[in-house]
Amino acid sequence: MPSPYLEARLARVRRALAEKEIDALLLTDIDNVGYVSGFTGSTAYALVTPDEAVFLTDSRYTLRARQECPQFTLAQAAGSGGYPEALTQIFSERPHLKKLGFEAQRVTVTQWEQLKKDSPAGLEWVATDGLIEALRMIKDADEVAAIQNAIAIAEGAWETVKPLLRPGLRERDFALELDFAMRRAGADGSAFETIVASGALGAHPHHSAGDRPLSPGDLVTVDWGASVGGYVSDITRTVGLAPITEQQRALHALVLEAQRRAIAAVRPGRTGKEIDAVARDFLTERGYGEQFGHSLGHSIGRKVHDGPALSVRSEKVILEPGMVVTVEPGVYIENWGGIRIEEDVLVTEGGHEVLTHLPNELEELG
Ligand code: ZN
Ligand code: ZN
Repeated sequence: MPSPYLEARLARVRRALAEKEIDALLLTDIDNVGYVSGFTGSTAYALVTPDEAVFLTDSRYTLRARQECPQFTLAQAAGSGGYPEALTQIFSERPHLKKLGFEAQRVTVTQWEQLKKDSPAGLEWVATDGLIEALRMIKDADEVAAIQNAIAIAEGAWETVKPLLRPGLRERDFALELDFAMRRAGADGSAFETIVASGALGAHPHHSAGDRPLSPGDLVTVDWGASVGGYVSDITRTVGLAPITEQQRALHALVLEAQRRAIAAVRPGRTGKEIDAVARDFLTERGYGEQFGHSLGHSIGRKVHDGPALSVRSEKVILEPGMVVTVEPGVYIENWGGIRIEEDVLVTEGGHEVLTHLPNELEELG
C-alpha cells in the first residue's frame, strides 16, 4: 500500500528543482530512490522533472515497482545496455531537459563517465549533493511510524533475551540472540552490527561483540537496532552484572543525567552543537569531558547515520519538527570500561518526544 505521503515528498523534490534551477533530478542512491518513490527493492534509478516522474529498474523488480510506485512512469532497463542505455533513451525522448541534477557523491567516477558518454550532447550535468538527504532529515508521519515500529521490535527483542545476560555467556552469543530475536519479531535485519562490549572492553565505544565471556562485576554496553521496512532504530543500554561497585553506579547515573539534560534541551530552533554542549559541558564540569570522545547523536531514518545532528561541528544543524535524532552520551575509561545510554528522540513543534521506552536506570543482573 503506497504511502499517502509520497505525493508530498515528490512535491518537495520539485520545489527543490525550482530552487536549484534545474530541469530534472536523477536519483541513483537507492535510499533516496526509495524515499521519493516508496520502492523497497535494491536496484533502481528515478528521474523527477516538474511534470513527470520516471522509474527505471530491471526485470527482477518490474512488478514490485508497478505496485509500489504508481505515481511513476515505469521504464525498464532491459537488454545488455542496462541502465545507461535506458537513460539515453529517456533523455532522447525528452529533449526539453537541458540541466540535469545528479547525486555526485553517490555515483562512482566510472558510472558517471558512462552516464555522460551515453547522454545527449546538449545535456548539462549539475552536481546536487545532499538535496534529497536534506529533505530526508524531516520525517513525515509515515516515516515516524516506521521508526517507531523498528524501535518496538528492537525493544521487544531486548526484553526477550535480557535474561540471558549472565556470567559465562560470550559477547558474540548475546549479540546473536538479540539479532535472532529481532528477526523473529519481524525485522528485515539488524540496522548495524550489534555491539556487545563487556568489562574493560567497554572502553572502546565501537567494540564489536567478541569471544570474551561475561564476568561478575562487568558493565555490559549493548548497542543494537532493527531495520524494518526501510527504517531503523538505534538503542544503547549499559547494564551491570552483580556485584556492581559504587563507582560503576555513580558513573552510570552521571551519564544518565547528561542524557536527561540534553534531551530536555531538544526543541525546534536549537542547533545540534548547542544540544551536544549541554551533555558535554555537564560531563566536563564533573571531570569526564575527556572521557566522552564522540558526538552526542546523529539523525536516524533510512540509515543509522542519516545525516549529522548533534555534535561540536553541528552549529549549522538547526533542529526542526520531524527530525529524529539519537542522544547517546558516554564515558569511556581505559582499563576500566565504559557506559553509554542511547535514546531515539523526535523533535516536535512543542519540543520533543522520546520514542524509545526501555527503562534506562542501571539494572544489576545475574
Ligand atoms: Zn547506537
Ligand atoms: Zn547511535
